[in-house]
Amino acid sequence: MGFERFIGNPSAVQTVREMLHADRLPGALLFTGPEGVGKKTLALMLAQAAVCERLKDDFCGECRHCRRAAEMIASAQEDLAKRREAKDSARRVEGLVYFDLQVIAPITRYILSEQIRVLRQVAYTRPFELPRRFFIIDQAQDIHWQAVDLLLKVLEEPPETTTFILVCPNAGELRSTIRSRCQRLAFSPVDEELILELIKDRTNVPEPKQRLVARLSHGSVGRALGFDLPACLARRDVWLEFFQSLSAGLGPRARAPDWQQLFDSTRKLSGDRDSFDDMLATGTELLRDLLLVLERGEGAQVSHLDLIPRLKTWASTFGFAGIVALKEGLDEAHRLQIRNVNQQLGLDSLAVGMVSSRRDAGQTGLTRL
Ligand SMILES: [Zn+2]
Repeated sequence: MGFERFIGNPSAVQTVREMLHADRLPGALLFTGPEGVGKKTLALMLAQAAVCERLKDDFCGECRHCRRAAEMIASAQEDLAKRREAKDSARRVEGLVYFDLQVIAPITRYILSEQIRVLRQVAYTRPFELPRRFFIIDQAQDIHWQAVDLLLKVLEEPPETTTFILVCPNAGELRSTIRSRCQRLAFSPVDEELILELIKDRTNVPEPKQRLVARLSHGSVGRALGFDLPACLARRDVWLEFFQSLSAGLGPRARAPDWQQLFDSTRKLSGDRDSFDDMLATGTELLRDLLLVLERGEGAQVSHLDLIPRLKTWASTFGFAGIVALKEGLDEAHRLQIRNVNQQLGLDSLAVGMVSSRRDAGQTGLTRL
């Protein structure tokens, strides 16, 4: 129990524990860094340690305050889930009750004004049950613009018994006036070996693929634990077939790339927006790998490390210019998608764009060889 369960980011943990040990908790903290590395988890641990009756710079999980804190976290999560499901907009913020340990997160796309209004109201009262109150504002970059000033006012006149912990991937997305009121703690991607251990201990990923999943998690514990390997491999196969047909079209016994097959596969896989985003992300990842093996060869930090021999063949066939052209095609598909153009249309035009740009670029690639 306690901080020893936290995976990665030892210096962030150390900083937090020193604050607790010295009884120097700032009124406002800002936890930044990539998704899935435990920013919110450490914020919750900090709050729990600050109220634990038995330990000073850790928490026991058993004392009255620890148990109460855990209940508050669970209730807040339950409440949030219910509000997110509410169809009626008034219902979403009706009767908001904030506990002494409260996670405040977007109910819609935003953290709504009413949420910040209630936060402000409660923050200046004495804590109800715990010695100190903690408001953890998750995805703080999504606070509705109408509510940002309200939060700023609270941070400018910090309540004595409340600590705010803003959690946000990129501090640059917050207004500088908010940022400057907080003590910042930066998180890094978690070490790959730690992620690998976690995959071995806590998932059913088969042994031969464990290293691959660790690498594709890019330092995110969250991603590693929720990794959908079959879906990832299915997405990848579409791209691999696509690369294969492109490279066949460039070889000495050139034949036309099999567009129909690419269209059929993507149609099957990109049924909704999320999976379409994932499709594009996988494509981007593979193109980055192609560039890496082309430029740095064997020792490069390739994501899809089980594919290195094939990636090398394709990379030398496409050449630098060919890979760049493919990347441009992919970016175009992403732009189309952001503009809400029919997703399949976006993907189809990507493929068509790729064949024309690739023909010119591919020639350049071949000349280089
Ligand atoms: Zn305790």
